[in-house]
Amino acid sequence: MENTINADWGNLPFGYFKTDYNVRCYYRDGKWGKLEISSSEYISIHMAATALHYGQEAFEGLKAYRGKDGKVRLFRWKDNAKRMRNSADGIMMAEVPVELFKEAAFKVVEMNARFIPPYGTGATLYLRPLLFGSGPQIGVKPAEEYMFMVFVSPVGPYFKEGFKPVAIEVVRDFDRAAPLGTGHIKVGGNYAASMRPADRAHKDGFASVLFLDAKEKKYIDEAGPANFYGIKDGKYITPQSKSILPSITNMSLEQIAKDIGLTVERRPVAIDELESFEEAGACGTAAIITPIGKIYDRMNDKTIEYGDAAGPVSTRLYQTLRGIQEGEIEDAHEWTTIIKGV
Ligand SMILES: *Cc1c(COP(=O)(O)O)cnc(C)c1O
Repeated sequence: MENTINADWGNLPFGYFKTDYNVRCYYRDGKWGKLEISSSEYISIHMAATALHYGQEAFEGLKAYRGKDGKVRLFRWKDNAKRMRNSADGIMMAEVPVELFKEAAFKVVEMNARFIPPYGTGATLYLRPLLFGSGPQIGVKPAEEYMFMVFVSPVGPYFKEGFKPVAIEVVRDFDRAAPLGTGHIKVGGNYAASMRPADRAHKDGFASVLFLDAKEKKYIDEAGPANFYGIKDGKYITPQSKSILPSITNMSLEQIAKDIGLTVERRPVAIDELESFEEAGACGTAAIITPIGKIYDRMNDKTIEYGDAAGPVSTRLYQTLRGIQEGEIEDAHEWTTIIKGV
């Protein structure tokens, strides 16, 4: 069987774990160079790089899953490649060709095969593609040089509770993204804006925040680094907003929800509607599905409760998604790609 390192797989945090290699590629003189393999955890860039000064940076997150059959599958990598192109376009960076993204993602998994967590441990190999302006500018303008890289890290679930309901907190005194800003693309700047409210929530014992729409503070936007959904009356309901990051996990759950006979609604979800949901959850590559047990709102000191156990619909969605990712449930929508030879 596969050659694997010794690690406490069942207790891995969602954190950085040093592996053997990463892959890199440089955009210079108007074109992308060849993919390079590196064993260094460091990068050397110009001190006036636009990424450092003006936040010209975007990233992605996807996972490689080891199945019961021993095969390793990447989940919807093409959608990550497209979203990274969209993020690049949004902040005027050189776009990474889909083929280059694929080469990098496959290569980095192959090179770090011994870090792919075994099946059944709950851990997976997280891929972190990164694209940023590496060339110098002092005025605010796009760089002329870019660096694209992918590194990997074996990880456990983002919310340490795993598939157990978490408590989250509504945020009204901070915004993650402006209505016509960059919330819809996966850029680092959005995260900088979310750190203070997230830190407060963690200190107060909440797993995450729930951001509202920046303009009216009336509608649900996102649950920190994850999309939000609610379940009621046989419906999978997820917010529509220009400042939400289009989650590939959420798109997948919408499809799975349809496949299992639920009605899918993507529309503005008023905060007043929260009380009417039978179940609520946060979803994303890192969060997978994290059921939400409680939503606290400090404005009126009110808590909405969904219970201490995951609801039946969330459980079914979770099991179906994991089953597809691990090759145990038929992949009817061709979401997974097997990485051969690892
Ligand atoms: C990455 C991300 C998500 C989840 O997207 P997936 O494609 O499902 O991993 C949700 N919200 C934000 C803000 C994100 O950056």
